[in-house]
Order: sequence, then C-alpha cells, then structure tokens
Amino acid sequence: MKQSQLFTKTERFAPKDEETKNAQLLTRAGFAEKLMAGVYNYLPLGLITLRKIERIVREEMNRIGGQEILMPMLHPKENWQTTGGWDKIDVLFKIKSRTEKDYALGQSEEEVVTPLVMRRLQTYKDLPLYVYQIHWKFRDELRAKSGLLRGREFFMKDMYSFHVDQADFDKFYEIAKQAYLKIFTRLGLTAKATEASGGSFSQKISYEFMVLTDAGEDDILYCDQCVFCVNQEIAKQKEGEPCPQCKKGKLRRAKAAEVGNVFDLGQKYGKDFDLGFKDKDGVKQYPVMGCYGIGISRLLGVIVEKCHDDKGIIWPEAVAPFKVHLLSLDQDKAAEKIYHDLLKNNIEVLYDDRRASPGEKFADADLIGLPYRLVVSAKSLKSGGVEIKKRGENQSKIVKIKDIIEGLK
Ligand code: ATP
Ligand code: MG
Repeated sequence: MKQSQLFTKTERFAPKDEETKNAQLLTRAGFAEKLMAGVYNYLPLGLITLRKIERIVREEMNRIGGQEILMPMLHPKENWQTTGGWDKIDVLFKIKSRTEKDYALGQSEEEVVTPLVMRRLQTYKDLPLYVYQIHWKFRDELRAKSGLLRGREFFMKDMYSFHVDQADFDKFYEIAKQAYLKIFTRLGLTAKATEASGGSFSQKISYEFMVLTDAGEDDILYCDQCVFCVNQEIAKQKEGEPCPQCKKGKLRRAKAAEVGNVFDLGQKYGKDFDLGFKDKDGVKQYPVMGCYGIGISRLLGVIVEKCHDDKGIIWPEAVAPFKVHLLSLDQDKAAEKIYHDLLKNNIEVLYDDRRASPGEKFADADLIGLPYRLVVSAKSLKSGGVEIKKRGENQSKIVKIKDIIEGLK
C-alpha cells in the first residue's frame, strides 16, 4: 500500500485523555481512534492488525476441532431471564425498543448458544461438540480508561464446549490450554496460566491466561523457576514464599493483563434451559459445558504495551500490518520498482511515497513500527543498494537490490 493514499496521518502528540501507552501509540500511529470511553474506531492499519490476530486465533481453534458460527449481538430478554443473568450480571447492557420490548447486548453468549446447540444434540453420540465465534461484545464496564485493554465494546473469540461428563471436559480443557498457549506464543507473547475461582454463577474453577504488563489490571503471583501462577485475589500464597509446585523457585508479584479465560460451566446452562441428551441407557442427562474466551482487541493493546520504545510501536512479525516499510528519500523511480517487486513476491509492504522530509519519514516508520525498514536514497544506491534495518535494532546494512527479496523471504 502507498502511504500517500492512507487516509490516516500520524500525529505528534497523543490525545490528552488517553492515559495508556497502547491508546497513545495506536492513536498517534493511526491504528485506532476513540469514539467515547471504551469504544474505538479501527482504522486501516489497526484493522489489518486485528484481523491478523483473529486469523491466528481462528487457525488454532479450527485445529482443535472448533466449528465457527456467528451469533447475534442483540438478544431477547427471555433468554437472559432463564439463566438469571438479566438481574445478576451488572455489566449487561439492556435496551428498550420503541414498542417497549427489552433486549440485551451480548456480553457472553451462553444464553444463545445453549438452546441453539442443545436442540440439535439428541444422544451422547453427538457429543463432544465445540463451537466458537469471533465477534463484538458489549459490557457496561465502570472503568474504561485502559485503551483497548478494557472496552465497553470489544472484539472477542468465544468458544463453547459440550461434554457428556466432567472427565471429558477436563480432557478437552488440557487440549484447549495448549492451543491457547500456542496462540499467545505465535503472537509474540508469553502467557501464564492461572487457576482461579468461579465465574458469574458457578463456584466451579476458571482458568486465566495472563501476560505480565504494568498496564494490566490484575495482580498475580508467579514462580520465577516454573510455570506456577495464581491470581493474587484468591491466592493462599504470599510474595517471597517458596513455590508450592516446584519447591525451588520463589513467588514474585506482578501486574498482568488477562488475555484469555476458560470457565468450567458445569451443567448450569443445560439445566436452566432444560435441554439435555440421552445417555447410553436412554436416560436424559445435562451436558457439562465449558466457555473459552480470548480478548482479541485487548490483545492488540497488550502487544503494544509489551512491544514499544520511546519512538513508537515494535510489531512482532506475525501481526504487523505490513512486513516492510519502504522509504523513498529522493529516488522515487528506484523505490517504485522495488515496491512492485515486493508486491509481486507477496511481501506485504507499506511504501512511503509521500513528499515529506527524510526526518518525517524516519519518525513515522519508528512510530508505525513495521518489522523491516528499507531506505532507498542516492546515498544507499551509491553504496550499492538499499539500506535495511530491523525495527528495534540500531544496526543497519546495505543490501543489493537483487538480494532484497530473497533476504526478506
Ligand atoms: P476481566 O477480569 O478483565 O474483566 P473477564 O473475566 O470479565 O475479564 P471474560 O468474561 O472471561 O473476561 O472474557 C474473555 C476475555 O475477553 C478476557 O480474558 C479478556 O481478554 C477479554 N475481555 C473481557 N472484558 C473485556 C473488556 N471490557 N475489554 C476488552 N477485553 C475484555
Ligand atoms: Mg470482566
């Protein structure tokens, strides 16, 4: 894409009311813009990045057998009354129509997915089943000052699993956990899995996936030697104590952002809707269900919190909106040719073809944060090619024009 055609422009200063690095940098670099507290516009660069995160999540959900569906965001009140959520869930947005009918905006979708799926499952042979969607969620959050980390409207992957019994859920949880850890690794993040107490209703266990960052709203204790990690809210342990799991490490305290969550829902939803399946003996049973969330828009914010310096964002390659930022300083003809060669070879490139000073172009490249910066100038051509530099590193080198494509591949 040519930068001259991008309708967003970078900005030197962040809006005064943005307190977090993720919101400041994403706004300045032209990825996102706040409409009101907790609600953001996704601009071209931001949407490409969001879609890349989404694609990684989708691939891993499909790999463990998830079937993708798309459920409505507008829900009838009745479903939420059936589960008690209408009165009990404080973040539920409620809407009244002009004919005085009540609706809810989806904050999670057990109320829709349970009847949708269970009406189609007749016997134990139809189980287990895993369905998921990637969609907007609405929550009436009291505090929405963390940029993309806490939205009132946000993008989430939510999967729901249906099992014949607890043992089958436990088995699948392990598979889902590995898929989750793989997703976060692919995104360039290190996530720790915690075990915490129940969700909105059940006293059942829930599992959280945490990324260490000072911008996060959770306090965790983690072992400096093994994978042990707990949410401070419920922890029996204290900072500095020996790790209860490996007995070798010490527990450290840190701020973290929850990027994913798994709830063991038990049989609550099947029972609420009175929808079950027939077991081997033809007796009606209620399914054990699990709910698996990943905050996709929150992840976009968390990646920026983890990957930036004082000049701008440093995108991990897997989610960068483009792999290469090509800057033409004074050699548009040579640069144009390289741009087309990159495109021909399917290398994603943002081409800064604007009439702007070298200083402006360098500053923008640092702010936008694409993994590789290619500079074409009279000076670089004289040295035999194009200057290439990795974002986040200081060292640059000259690469011959004919070697650029192979090098980037
Ligand atoms: P939190 O404790 O941060 O409020 P939660 O326990 O309410 O999270 P879930 O209901 O499990 O979260 O939602 C699944 C995932 O969606 C979370 O792990 C998180 O990554 C993301 N998420 C939850 N609430 C928000 C929000 N308000 N804005 C952005 N992402 C969110
Ligand atoms: Mg919450």
